[in-house]
Amino acid sequence: MQVYRRGDTGHVVAHVRSVLASLALPVGPEEGVSATDFDATLDKAVRAFQQQRGLSVDGIVGPDTLRALDEARRSLGDRLLYFSPSRPFVGDDVAELQTRLLNMGFDAGRCDGIFGRRTESALGEFQRNRRLAVDGRCGPATLRELHRLARVVVGGRPHELRETEELRRRGQGDSELTVAIDAGHGGRDEGWTALGLCERDIVAEIAARLEGRLLATGLSGFLIHSHNESPDERERARRANELGADLMISLHVDGAPSPRCQGVATFHFGSPRNASVIGSKLAELVQREMVSRTDLVDLRTHPRTWDLLRRTQMPTVRVELGYLTNPQDAACLAAPEFRDTVAEALLAAVQRLFLPPELDLPTGQLRLPAVSLH
Ligand SMILES: [Zn+2]
Repeated sequence: MQVYRRGDTGHVVAHVRSVLASLALPVGPEEGVSATDFDATLDKAVRAFQQQRGLSVDGIVGPDTLRALDEARRSLGDRLLYFSPSRPFVGDDVAELQTRLLNMGFDAGRCDGIFGRRTESALGEFQRNRRLAVDGRCGPATLRELHRLARVVVGGRPHELRETEELRRRGQGDSELTVAIDAGHGGRDEGWTALGLCERDIVAEIAARLEGRLLATGLSGFLIHSHNESPDERERARRANELGADLMISLHVDGAPSPRCQGVATFHFGSPRNASVIGSKLAELVQREMVSRTDLVDLRTHPRTWDLLRRTQMPTVRVELGYLTNPQDAACLAAPEFRDTVAEALLAAVQRLFLPPELDLPTGQLRLPAVSLH
């Protein structure tokens, strides 16, 4: 096979020049030089291209460089891509498709630019997820959806984006969103008792208020146990799973030997290296709403691997709504208006999680039920 280098002439040279130009490389030709002439400028561009693609940088256009040029000039949408076992599609368009799928959390395997079986199944998964016809082919409707999402999906946190999209779709859809509400104690299990107050009763009341508010805004709130019982964490998780809840909020009030301990903290599943993305997002929202609406000290959000957080299949948070053993926090918790504020903060956090960003208002400004999901 013929190779081309500086000094050569021919229509292949013109082809190489036009492909490199389409990749935004400066290719000349210089004044007085024909497009079919392999000049110094083109030589530089070929070397730059070889460098980018991990080829030997010699300025010689042989079979490898020609193949790489052929792959590079494909951009997503130029041709219909599908799995062809005998002669797989290869090119930058395939690589772009793989990158997009991977960025959204669909397992297209290694981004190698070859449309193999794994790319096909990831694409099918994407189509199923976006409610498109599932044929594993990258046709017009699939391309449109990929381009539309490209504006939303910026890469880096694929699973978050995928889960967030899922949540938003649920928020905009007709299916009812169910929030499992877990009052942390019940029955003979009183939790913390101090300063004439009892954790069991406080969280039960806040749980009931939250349930009412969820219902009023078209969401479905569900108390996973009665006031008279206190199932263990596994059982609580099992009930929430069985219910098929979309989220779970577990309510507690903290206590400590020192009356100086005070503040609100929210916990979600995970370790510092590997956290539940939606769980941590919900925890962040709950914490922000609580801190902006009350005078409680901000003890921040934390990942934990507690049974309740780990065994629930939906994003779950546990909120510690202040210290019953601290006089200031206890005074807040004793007031009915404060319990209303807490329920409102929790509802606002849930709504924010489901709302698309353009409908979201600054923290603490959501007035309920002004923004309804239905
Ligand atoms: Zn508790």
